[in-house]
Amino acid sequence: MGQRGPATTSAPVGAYTLNTPSIEQLLAALPKAELHVHLEGSIEPATVVELAARHGVSLTVEEAAARYAPGTFDQFIEAFIWVTSFLRGPEDYALISRRFAESMRRQNVLYAEVTLSIGIMFRRNQDPAVNFAALREAALQVPGVRLRWIFDAVRQWGAGPAMEVARIAAELRSPDIAAFGIGGDELGLPTSELRPVYEYVASQGMHRLIHAGEIGGPESVREAVEILGAERIGHGIGVMRDERTMDFIAARGIPLEVCPTSNLRTGALARQLGRKTAGYEQHPLASFFRRGLPVTLSSDDPAMFETTVNDEYVHAHRMGLNSVDLVRLAEASFHHAFLPEAEKAVLLDEFHSRTAALGLV
Ligand SMILES: [Zn+2]
Repeated sequence: MGQRGPATTSAPVGAYTLNTPSIEQLLAALPKAELHVHLEGSIEPATVVELAARHGVSLTVEEAAARYAPGTFDQFIEAFIWVTSFLRGPEDYALISRRFAESMRRQNVLYAEVTLSIGIMFRRNQDPAVNFAALREAALQVPGVRLRWIFDAVRQWGAGPAMEVARIAAELRSPDIAAFGIGGDELGLPTSELRPVYEYVASQGMHRLIHAGEIGGPESVREAVEILGAERIGHGIGVMRDERTMDFIAARGIPLEVCPTSNLRTGALARQLGRKTAGYEQHPLASFFRRGLPVTLSSDDPAMFETTVNDEYVHAHRMGLNSVDLVRLAEASFHHAFLPEAEKAVLLDEFHSRTAALGLV
C-alpha cells in the first residue's frame, strides 16, 4: 500500500531558487501533455454520485470516495469495474468526457491521449461507436484542450475480446483515435497470445500501446516491444530491476509513461521492490530520467488515486527533478505524442512560447 493523504503538502522546494511564484504555481502554469490517463479513472466521486442517481442508485460522495481506496492491485481493478457500472449510455460518457476536458484545461494540459475502455463497453453490451461519438463531441465543446482517444482492451478477458476492440478502432477510422492499447491485469494473459491482435493493429496503420512492467517484471516490457511492437509502454517501472532491459529501452527509444502516485496506490511499486510498502522516495522516475530513458509523466486514474497531472509534477520535483528537468519532462510529453509531425510542431511552438513567458527557459 502506498502513501495516503493529500497529494499536495508543503515541503522544501529544493533546486528552484526564485522566491515567487512558488514551484507549485509554475508547474501548474507549465503547458503539459497527458499521455497516460484513463477516462473512467478520472470520474470524481461527486460525478459518480450524479451518474448513480441517473440510474436510480442512491450514493453519497463519502461512499463513492470510500470505494476509491485500493490497497492492492486487485482491489483497484475491482473499483474500476464498479465505477464503470454507472456508465450505461452515451449521455453518461458525454458527461464524464466534458468534466475530464475541463479538468485538463484547468491544469494547462494542451493535449491528452485518453485511454477509453472499449473492452468494458463490449462487455456491457453497449455500442462503442455510439458512446464514442457522444464523448468525442462533448470534449470538442471544451476549448483550449485537444483530446484524442486510445481504444483499450482488458487483458485478462483474452485475445478474442481484444481483437474486437482493435476491429472497431479500425472501422471507425477517426483522426481522433490515437492508438490501440491494452490494460488490466498484466499477468492475466501471456504476451504471446496477443501477437495476432497487435499484428492486425499494425496492419491497419494504428499505433500500438500496452500496460507492461507495472506489476510485471522487466521481461514483460521486453516482450511487449519485441513480440507486440509496442511503441510506448504504460508504466514500465519493472525495468528498474534489470540493467540490460533499461539499456534495451533506451537503445530502442521506447518511452515509458510513468505514473508515480498510481504505482504507490495500487501497491505496484512495493511489489516491484519485494516490500510491503513503498514511497515516492523509492520511485525510479528520477533515476530513469538521469539515465536517459525516454519518460513521460502521467496521472493514470487521477480521481481514484486522489492526484492530478499538476500534482505528479510536484511529486517529481520532490523526487529530485529541478525546474529545468521538469520543463524537459513536460516537453517530452509532446514529443512522444502520437500526432502527425506538423500538428506536433504547432503544439511544441505553443509549449515553447508559454514556457518562455513563464521565465522557464
Ligand atoms: Zn493505466
